[in-house]
Amino acid sequence: MSKDVRNSGSTAPQPCDAVIFGGGVAGLWLLDALSRRGYAAVLLESRALGAGQTITSQGILHSGLKYTLDGLLNASAEGVRDWPAIWRECLRGEQCPDLRAARVLSDECHLWRTSNPRSMLGMVGARVGLKVRPEPVAKADRPTPLRECPGSVFRLAEQVIEPASLLSALRAPHASRVALIDGESVDIDGRSVCVHSPTGDEWRLAPNIVFLTAGAGNAALHAKFGLDFKAMQRRPLHMALAKGPLPPLFGHCVDGAHTRVTITTARLESGESVWQIGGQVAEDGVALTEDELAQRAKREVASVLPGVDLSGVLWSSYRVDRAEAENAGKRPSDATVLREGAVVTVWPTKLVLAPRAAELALREMPEPVGHADIAVPPSWPRPAVAAPPWESATWKRVD
Ligand SMILES: Cc1cc2nc3c(=O)[nH]c(=O)nc-3n(C[C@H](O)[C@H](O)[C@H](O)COP(=O)(O)OP(=O)(O)OC[C@H]3O[C@@H](n4cnc5c(N)ncnc54)[C@H](O)[C@@H]3O)c2cc1C
Repeated sequence: MSKDVRNSGSTAPQPCDAVIFGGGVAGLWLLDALSRRGYAAVLLESRALGAGQTITSQGILHSGLKYTLDGLLNASAEGVRDWPAIWRECLRGEQCPDLRAARVLSDECHLWRTSNPRSMLGMVGARVGLKVRPEPVAKADRPTPLRECPGSVFRLAEQVIEPASLLSALRAPHASRVALIDGESVDIDGRSVCVHSPTGDEWRLAPNIVFLTAGAGNAALHAKFGLDFKAMQRRPLHMALAKGPLPPLFGHCVDGAHTRVTITTARLESGESVWQIGGQVAEDGVALTEDELAQRAKREVASVLPGVDLSGVLWSSYRVDRAEAENAGKRPSDATVLREGAVVTVWPTKLVLAPRAAELALREMPEPVGHADIAVPPSWPRPAVAAPPWESATWKRVD
């Protein structure tokens, strides 16, 4: 045992259908799916819900368009394109999980291009085979930041949700099934899983299946389960943040087959806004220092959004890795589920594919065997929802 146990529970492990390690969107969506089908399942989180990718994501429920900018409807777009409709139903409370408490920041994204003619071809290609098609926007109807853009602007019915409220909404019906654990202190003994709270309490579980939905943490968990782990890739990003009196903007600036920038907006209590800036600038930014990225991001935003006043804006950045199933360094075209004995590892690949990942994971479950519902011991600590990246950002002016 790697830690002193202050308060040992019963020695007999508690039988249950499933234990889930990791409370990002994948783990919480799966917990909901399992619980609603009558499985006795618990979720164990070592930091805060969504810490890692979900809380740092831009919350766009991609329609698949992003993946067809090369003019082809490829496997990736096929994998993505039906899922925004499922989300819409959940966000309206017409399907489970009931996500009415999740905040929809925008019902649409805009798509605009730079002067590169290839980007226009990309947009035309993007319309092929999509359920959500970009519609041209008249100049007078453009959102303020896009008023001065020289090229065409399109509207895309791609919703954007606030990740923190999504995580809270997913947890709400299952609060009794979500526990905070010491991630360093997990012991596996055959089918028995022994975990500890940060204060040293012990809990022994005997699940039929263990799901790993811990994002980048899946690698370390594999080692704990004695599995040889080569199945994950990490694709790093260096995302930019801009804070100030910025107007709301949700959308992608497209250049040929690339998304030059993807911008989403968070409203702060102070009345200011934060623009979260991803896309190619964040891919290229991996090789840059924080200062270099801030300068690059400012130049890029000024170039793709002429007319937006950036004079009072402060800049920051954060680094985060996308953790996915190994695919030679390229984005996998679908959610991935990998089964090794009683351990099933789940990567949604995208937030929007969380329902797809849960569907694939459920296929690994035998019929419920009638275990009594399982709940976290009453005094056991519960994880908070992770804080968004701008809450811990250091802001600076960029000249
Ligand atoms: C910057 C960025 C922007 C993105 N934007 C979008 C977007 O707009 N739209 C979209 O569809 N997708 C987007 N994605 C992808 C999407 O965010 C991820 O695919 C998705 O959030 C992954 O969810 P997850 O639950 O697998 O992992 P995570 O969200 O990383 O959650 C893993 C959880 O496991 C916990 N954990 C780790 N180790 C352990 C352990 N040992 N024991 C217990 N718990 C553990 C972590 O603390 C965390 O809570 C973006 C990703 C990034 C990085």
